[in-house]
Amino acid sequence: MRSDSSGPRLLLRRIRELMAEPLQPQARLDEIVRQIAANMVAEVCSLYVLRSDGVLELYATEGLNPGAVHLAQLRLGEGLVGTIAATARPLNLPEAQKHPAFTYLPETGEEMFNSFLGVPILRAGRTLGVLDVQNKAKRVYRDEELEALETVAMVVAEMIAAGSLEGLSRPGVQLDLTRPVSFRGTALSEGIGLGHVILHEPRVVVTNLFNEDVDSEIERLERSLGYLRISIEDMLARRDIAGEGEHRAVLEAYRMFAHDRGWVRRLEEAIRNGLTAEAAVEKVQSDMRARMMHMTDPYIRERLHDFDDLAHRLLRQLMGRGEGGVMEDGPQDGIIVARSMGAAELLDYRRDRIRGLVLEEGAPTSHVVIVARALGVPVVGQVKGAVSMSENRDEVIIDGDDGGVHLRPPADVQTVFAEKVRFRAKRQEQYRLLRDAPAVTQDGVAVDLLMNAGLMVDLPQLDAAGAAGIGLFRTELQFMIASAMPKVSEQEHLYSAVLDAAGTKPVTFRTLDVGGDKLLPYLHQSPEENPALGYRAIRIALDRPALMRTQLRALLKAAGGRELKIMFPMVTELSEIHRARELIARELRHLTKFGHIMPRRLKLGVMIEVPSLLFQLDELMELVDFVSVGSNDLFQFFSAVDRGNTQIATRFDDLSPPFLRALKSIVQAGERHSVPVTLCGEMAGKPLTAMALLGLGFRSISMTPSAIGPVKAMLVALDAGKLAQAMDQHIASRHRSQTMRELLQGFAEAHAIPY
Ligand code: PEP
Ligand code: MG
Repeated sequence: MRSDSSGPRLLLRRIRELMAEPLQPQARLDEIVRQIAANMVAEVCSLYVLRSDGVLELYATEGLNPGAVHLAQLRLGEGLVGTIAATARPLNLPEAQKHPAFTYLPETGEEMFNSFLGVPILRAGRTLGVLDVQNKAKRVYRDEELEALETVAMVVAEMIAAGSLEGLSRPGVQLDLTRPVSFRGTALSEGIGLGHVILHEPRVVVTNLFNEDVDSEIERLERSLGYLRISIEDMLARRDIAGEGEHRAVLEAYRMFAHDRGWVRRLEEAIRNGLTAEAAVEKVQSDMRARMMHMTDPYIRERLHDFDDLAHRLLRQLMGRGEGGVMEDGPQDGIIVARSMGAAELLDYRRDRIRGLVLEEGAPTSHVVIVARALGVPVVGQVKGAVSMSENRDEVIIDGDDGGVHLRPPADVQTVFAEKVRFRAKRQEQYRLLRDAPAVTQDGVAVDLLMNAGLMVDLPQLDAAGAAGIGLFRTELQFMIASAMPKVSEQEHLYSAVLDAAGTKPVTFRTLDVGGDKLLPYLHQSPEENPALGYRAIRIALDRPALMRTQLRALLKAAGGRELKIMFPMVTELSEIHRARELIARELRHLTKFGHIMPRRLKLGVMIEVPSLLFQLDELMELVDFVSVGSNDLFQFFSAVDRGNTQIATRFDDLSPPFLRALKSIVQAGERHSVPVTLCGEMAGKPLTAMALLGLGFRSISMTPSAIGPVKAMLVALDAGKLAQAMDQHIASRHRSQTMRELLQGFAEAHAIPY
C-alpha cells in the first residue's frame, strides 16, 4: 500500500487537469472515479448522486460492475452510502460489514470488500451525493486521503450545481438540487409574486479550487484574516451594521470566532492539502454546516449563523468583493431570499425589479417588513432553510397571503398561482372601485382611513389608495437611508413635497424616532443592554436639541402658510411634552425674527406607546391637540414582548381583552376631552384587527396604503354598533368560551364581512 503523502496532492493536480479537458460529463465522471481509485490504490471508487425522489443513484464506478451504473439505487439512510447522505458525515471503516447500516447490493458484487471510506458531496450545507472508495484489505484510510476525497467531492458538487449531470440518467430523472421544494413560513406582507431568486448575500462562488503554492496561499489567508479582524473591530467601535437586536453580543461573538484557533487550523490544513484559501474557507464551512445543521439547540444554531456570516466576509475579502450587496444584473422579477435584512438594505434594490421577499427570520413589526408593506412587496418570514436551498435565478413563488414559498415549482403549481394573481388583480379592481366611495359603515359611522408613509415613493399612494390623509409620516426613514445626516434644506424639501402631494388632506409628521432597532450609521450611540427601552426617540431629541431644532425648523419652514401637525414618539412623562413645546416655541421665535412665513395652524400631538401614559390620560389630553396610538410599541411594552423577537412574535394576541381595555380607555379619554385619537400601528392595517378597533370606538386609523382597500371593504359591510355591543360583552365577561379573535371571525362570517 502506498504511503506517499504527496499522493493526495497528486490526485488533486490530476483532477484539476481533468477538469480542463474537453470531456463529456459521463466520461469526466468515469475518469474522476478512475483517478481516485488509482491514486488511493483502492479497488473500487463509486459516485452516487441524490435524486429528487430521495434515491441515491450510482452515476459512476471504477471496480464495481459497470452495468450497475444508473441502475443501482439506495434510499437516503439505507446502507453506508445512504447513511453518509442522510447524516452528511463521512465514514471511514476498516471492516465495513461490521457497521450496522451495511447492506449488500447484488448487482454491484461488492461483498468482497472490507474497508470503506465515503464522504458526502456537499454544497452550502446540502447533500447532493456520496463519493466512496473500497478495498479488499482491512485498512484505515489516512486523514489526507479523507481530505482529498472531500475536495474532489467539492468539484463534483460544482458540476452538479452547474447542471452538467442533467440528462445522464434515464429520462424523467431529476436531481435533488433541482427538486421543487415548498416551505411554510409566516405571512408578513400580503400579495403573491412569481419570479426568480436573488440571494440577498449572494454566495460567493469559488471557482479557483486548487493552489499552486501552499505558502503563498497561507500568507493570503493570514492577510485576509487580519483584514477581517480589523473590520470586526471597526464594527464593534461603530455598531453601524448590526442587524436586529443583540448587536453587541453578536459582534463580540464574531470577534471571538475570528480569532478561533481551531477554525484557523482547519483552514490551514485544507490549504496544505492543496486548496486555495477561498476553497479552504468554503470547505471548512460546508463541513461545519453539515455537522451542525442537525443540532436543534437554538444557541448553537445561532452561532452557526455567525460563523456563516464570518466565512462569507472572509470569502469576499479573499476574492476582493468588498461588502457584498445588490445584484445589478439580477432578474427583472426578483424575489429576494435572505436570512434577515435591514430596511435600508431593501431600499438598495430597485422596486420595479422586486416581486417579493423571503426571510429566514423576520417578524410582523420588523422595520424591513414595514417598509416592504409600504412598497407593496409581499413578504414571507420564518422560512427555515430558504437560503441554503436556493440558487440565484431559481424560479420561485411567494404567497404573502398564506405564508407559502414554492421553490422551483412544477408547471401545475405555477398555473394555480398565475390564476391566483389574476384573481387578486380582480379584487384590487374592486378596491379601486371602492376607492372614491365614502368610508362609512352600514350604520352610518364615518371613519378616517389614513395612510402611513415615510418616503417620496409613498406619496403617489395617497390618491391611488384613496387615503384621507397621512396619519403617520415616519421622518426617520429619510435619515435611515442616507449615508450622512440630511441637511435642513434636504429635510425641508421632503416635508414640503409631502405637503404639496397631500394638498388639502391632513398630514401628521412624527419627529425623529431613532434608537432602539432604528440605528443611524452616522449617529454614534453607545451600546445598550436593552435598546428598545433605551436611548431613543424623544429621549435623544431632548438631550440633543440641535438635532430636534433642525428638524422642527425644516418642518415649520416647509409648512409656511399651511397647517402643520407634529407628533412626538415614545413620550413617557408629561414633562417631555413641555420641553418639546419649549423647543418649538424657540424655533418659532427664531423663524419669525427672520421673517419666515409661519404655518397657518400648528397642532401638537404625542404617540401613546409607553404604558405609563395610560395612567395619566386625562392630564395628557389637556396638554395636546391630538394623540395617536403606536400599537406596535404599546403592545410590546404592555405585554413585555420584544416586537422583533421571532420566537415570541405570534405568541401573544393583540386582540386580548386586557390590551383592548387599554385601547378603549384611550378612546374614552379622547372623547371626554374632545381630543382626536388615531391609531397608526400595524393593527390598523389588517381587516380583522381594524374591525376590532372600530368596535372599540376608534374613528380614525392609519395604515400601510395597500391595506386601505381591504379595510374599507370590511368597513362598508360592518354594523359598528352591533359589533361594539358584542365586543363590550366579551371584554366584560369573566367566563369566555372563545377568544376575541374567534368572536370577531364568527361575527364577520355571520354578517358576510370580508376580512
Ligand atoms: C408603533 O409603535 O406602533 C408605531 C407606529 O411606530 P413604529 O412602528 O415606527 O415604531
Ligand atoms: Mg413606535
